[in-house]
Amino acid sequence: MHPQDRELRLLSVVAPMFDEEDTVGPLYERVRTACEGVPFELVFVDDASSDRTPDLLDQLADSDPRVSVLHLSRNFGHQAAITAGLEHARGNAVVMIDGDLQDPPELIPKMLEHWRQGSDVIYGVRDHRPGETRFKLTTARWFYRLFARITGLDLQKNSGDFRLMDRQALDAVLSMPERNRFLRGMTVWVGFTQTPVTYTRDARHAGETKYTLRRMMKFALDAISSFSWLPLQAATLLGFVFSIVAFLGLPLVIVARIAGIYVPGVSTILFVILLLGGIQLITVGIIGEYVGRIYDEVKGRPLYVVREGRNIGGDEAPDEAPSEPQRVPAP
Ligand code: UDP
Ligand code: MG
Repeated sequence: MHPQDRELRLLSVVAPMFDEEDTVGPLYERVRTACEGVPFELVFVDDASSDRTPDLLDQLADSDPRVSVLHLSRNFGHQAAITAGLEHARGNAVVMIDGDLQDPPELIPKMLEHWRQGSDVIYGVRDHRPGETRFKLTTARWFYRLFARITGLDLQKNSGDFRLMDRQALDAVLSMPERNRFLRGMTVWVGFTQTPVTYTRDARHAGETKYTLRRMMKFALDAISSFSWLPLQAATLLGFVFSIVAFLGLPLVIVARIAGIYVPGVSTILFVILLLGGIQLITVGIIGEYVGRIYDEVKGRPLYVVREGRNIGGDEAPDEAPSEPQRVPAP
């Protein structure tokens, strides 16, 4: 694609970890093998795990200087954890990968190949997902369809967060300060050259999914509300529809009254009141979803707080300036 290939200075691999004690070792081994011969760093973000994950990560960091670990002060969630890792990544190409080995690290060399040839965002597309519940697959499919329809942003369906980004594209993503993050949408939104690579998503190596139904719903709402106004506009639309019905109905009632065929219908009135009341509450709720998110954004709280870092340049806590990646003051 480009006349001369890009030169890799450092590859960063960012993995969020929440209670993944059984996966730490295998993940490290597989990334190390996959990145053989490539200058790389592995940035683990421990999202306040309560099992042995933090200790295992620290041991890794002590034995291999290429491994750095960020311990967050509490559980901030998947997207915030990835963001923390991305902001501390130093590479000029950065991979984000789930810490449960559902995304095969063996795909990284192939992604790198595309990057060298000039692609900026190379995202994994899952062609097959064993070990996931029927429910998860169906809801995921619906979600991607709804998302594309509503936002007009073409998220490749079945693409997860597994992707490699060029530094320039990553900086564009990191410059988006929003708190309710839908990273896979944001990486598409920034543009640049996007290239899919397909892979088979494995079943979890160990443990269970951390996404409960509730978290998935919040995630879906975050995704849609941060990329579209359509739900808000739906309220306006409904308002128009009902106004038109009322305008059409009014003369009918008057005519019926004059003609004497008017029967007082209490149940009809009740029904209409309930219907309209319900719709009003729903629209107020939708507006509330947005207002709540605006409130979140306006507060401008940091996305995450770092308790401790290992092998992070200077071990500084970056929560004062979370959007500045790696500005280590000279000692
Ligand atoms: N994760 C995290 N914080 C959380 C929940 C999940 O860092 O609060 C990590 C988790 O350890 C895993 C990745 O995010 O590496 C994806 O989570 P999970 O596998 O539970 O999601 P799924 O693959 O089921 O969508
Ligand atoms: Mg998973």
